[in-house]
Amino acid sequence: MTEVFTGNFTQQEPIPEEGIAAAVAVMRSGRLHRYNVAAGEAGEVALLEREFADYLGAKYCLAVASGGYAMGAALRALGVKPGDKVLTNAFTLAPVPGAIAAVGAVPVFVGVTEDLVIDLEDLAAKADQADVLMLSHMRGHLCDMEALMALCDARGLRVIEDCAHTMGADWKGRPSGLWGVMGCYSTQTYKHINSGEGGFLVSDDAELMARATILSGSYMLYDRHLAAPAPEVFERVKYHTPNVSGRMDHLRAAVLRPQVRALDAQCAAWNARYLKIEAGLRGTPGLKVIDRPEAGRFVGSSIQFLLLDWGEAHIKDVVARCQTRGVELKWFGGKEPVAFTSRYDSWRYAPSAPMPASDRILASIMDMRVPLTFSLEDCALIARIIQEEVRAVHHIVHGG
Ligand SMILES: *Cc1c(COP(=O)(O)O)cnc(C)c1O
Repeated sequence: MTEVFTGNFTQQEPIPEEGIAAAVAVMRSGRLHRYNVAAGEAGEVALLEREFADYLGAKYCLAVASGGYAMGAALRALGVKPGDKVLTNAFTLAPVPGAIAAVGAVPVFVGVTEDLVIDLEDLAAKADQADVLMLSHMRGHLCDMEALMALCDARGLRVIEDCAHTMGADWKGRPSGLWGVMGCYSTQTYKHINSGEGGFLVSDDAELMARATILSGSYMLYDRHLAAPAPEVFERVKYHTPNVSGRMDHLRAAVLRPQVRALDAQCAAWNARYLKIEAGLRGTPGLKVIDRPEAGRFVGSSIQFLLLDWGEAHIKDVVARCQTRGVELKWFGGKEPVAFTSRYDSWRYAPSAPMPASDRILASIMDMRVPLTFSLEDCALIARIIQEEVRAVHHIVHGG
């Protein structure tokens, strides 16, 4: 009998009851704007910032309207100007080059390795073109962060980390987001904590964070923050930093605070599901599992594998066969951007030279979400379906 999976790949868990109650209380108060607080009240946003900074071990944290906003604010805080080049990953999602383009800067794409991390050789070759690297930990794959930072420090490159897929992850015990000068997170529905839209910026650099805070639309109310630099730092930047509003509100913060407390347990739940699927995929002919390095703690909220050199027709066949059995695989290699997938050459506002070695890898990347609403049995079934369909197509191609 052919097994079919009937679960929903985009169904999140509900917001914790505690978060719902806190959100209702915010609505009853009528004080939704982050700086609208009663006497003696810190407010949900300031508390969330303090709690997320403490969770990571960061000095400063700013909650903002989205992950994309956080990246744009980081670029502006670092002084990136229109026309400047900014290095970034060829394998990432559209908001990353978009954030660079939004400040008038020009993305320069760096290749991807078979481990789905930034290619450090290609980075070294392109390092002299820019002062800033927007490093996207795409799909939670962290490169050797010590090697990357050594390279960037030696070449005078400042690193902004895009941690949209690495909230809860670390490299050698140091959280992602604390390696570079600034770390950016998203709390959008498909990430690790869910407020519909939202994001964070973290840093240990007081001046960058003071600039980002003014940028986000703090006016001169920055003393209402609990995870911001001291007022004298703001004195140095407040006349020179434009307001580009992108604040978070109390409603979203109320929904997020209990999720920050639950984050480590959620990450463990993701990894149990991920490892179940990974184990089921290992040993499939023609399918390359991405081995996760021992040095890093990852969050398995999605899984990738490679069908190297299979060619478009056979990959599309695998996707279609899995889809028929209820399993939604996404392919990053398509010529046309589809849903959330796109390639660096889809972003035509940012012309790029072809990267044949990376193109070969991008053309082979299969991607699947792992929502926490799936059970471990669901994950085992999904892996069986993928394994069977990959085998079937492989058999057609290679015989045997
Ligand atoms: C989602 C995402 C972002 C942007 O987050 P938003 O909150 O949607 O703006 C940035 N980078 C990557 C890799 C993402 O997946």
